Amino acid sequence: MLVSVLGTGYVGLVSGAGLAEKGHRIICVDAEAARVDAVRRGVPPFYEPGLRELLVRNADRLEATTDLRRAVLETDLSLIAVGTPFANGQIDLDAVRTVARQIGQALREKRDYHVVVVKSTVVPGTTEEVVLPLLEATSGKRAGADFGVAMNPEFLTEGEAVRDFLCPDRLVLGALGARSLAALEELYAGFPEVERVRTTPRTAEMIKYAANCLLGTAISFSNEIANLCSTLGGIDVGEVMRGVHLSKYLTSTTADGRRTQVDLAAFLWAGCGFGGSCLPKDLRTLIAHGERAGQPMRLLRAVAEINERQPDQVLALVRKHFPALAGTRVAVLGLAFRPGTSDLRESPAIPIVRQLVAAGACVTAYDPAAQDEARRVFPDGEVRLCDTLEAAVADADVALLVTRWEEFRRVPDVLRATGRAPLLVDGRRMLERTAYEPYEGIGL
Ligand code: NAD
Repeated sequence: MLVSVLGTGYVGLVSGAGLAEKGHRIICVDAEAARVDAVRRGVPPFYEPGLRELLVRNADRLEATTDLRRAVLETDLSLIAVGTPFANGQIDLDAVRTVARQIGQALREKRDYHVVVVKSTVVPGTTEEVVLPLLEATSGKRAGADFGVAMNPEFLTEGEAVRDFLCPDRLVLGALGARSLAALEELYAGFPEVERVRTTPRTAEMIKYAANCLLGTAISFSNEIANLCSTLGGIDVGEVMRGVHLSKYLTSTTADGRRTQVDLAAFLWAGCGFGGSCLPKDLRTLIAHGERAGQPMRLLRAVAEINERQPDQVLALVRKHFPALAGTRVAVLGLAFRPGTSDLRESPAIPIVRQLVAAGACVTAYDPAAQDEARRVFPDGEVRLCDTLEAAVADADVALLVTRWEEFRRVPDVLRATGRAPLLVDGRRMLERTAYEPYEGIGL
């Protein structure tokens, strides 16, 4: 199939490269020329394991351009994968509207049937009530009769995006009409084993939000329990959660007696909160959308509020030992919102660093992948970015672990090697609490 992908960010580029791997011919489009140039050279504009190899392997089936019109004219199906941020109390659909208008203008010149698929995360109703009317108005054609419309949310996780795209856990195909559904089926013909939910665009849009909000709810639930454990004293939330995980609902027993944990258990674990470009934004968007529709989202409001306060819990652990913070040398370990990515968007590390700096602490930081991004986020030298874990903690009074990078399993040894016994604050509860002294962890 000939496919254009409009928006060459995390979702657009991984989808484009993944679909090329499955044999489709792909044209990736982006408004940013630098991004397009990078893709042409086979260099992903962001860090994502396995993406470079995928781009190189499929170079003959994947091209990149800034020319959206040509991309639409030369393909059978377009995926809209532009950003949908939360701004001024609601979802910002500016980029989606712009691209929809541009596609419509191209469709005006096109004789063949074309299917437009929204892949961006958009609130229920957007595909039919915003995208479809814009396409009709700008193309002068009719949806269904002259072109197809569908919604196909993406569930990939940054840091595991290539694997998630190539081996998805589900395919949600929200199509308007049989012809659009058939086009989606053809697009995903290379994924025969994957379970499909064939539904309306509106339901497909809702599935994406419900799925993300469930994960955020599990995390905030764990953090609320962790905070209560800390307040009550004498209870380790790590043990509590291990006890919770062993429930038959989270750890099932196979016929041969083996016990296997469902992946949701990974979200039922205390930490310093969730971040990234999706979970916090999708949560806020659904809360605002529900409230606009007259349906107060009480549970999700609490989920968001707990998450926003979680960095304070981490800082309270530092203050327990260094009440003033001013002049305290703090090494922040991990800046990306999760391991495996260079993405700092809404990372809990940002409020943590900003509050430390505001309180007069001397902050060093190290992240295995996000150093370049960090230079953009903290440009004025308020944080000294280090190239190694050793350099970051060399003079530190406190090592504050924020991102669950595997490399940080070494932290106890690296701290011991300093010969000074700085405080270790484990914001992710990823290290054995007995592995190092002095140790503080969330929910201890
Ligand atoms: P992103 O910001 O990484 O990429 C968006 C890209 O679109 C940018 O490169 C931007 O330059 C380009 N763009 C914007 N306007 C354009 C225009 N008019 N023409 C051409 N290109 C344009 O965003 P992302 O993280 O890939 O997210 C895209 C959508 O997918 C969002 O709705 C997001 O919520 C959703 N999503 C993201 C993830 C994720 O993990 N990042 C996962 C699932 C779903």
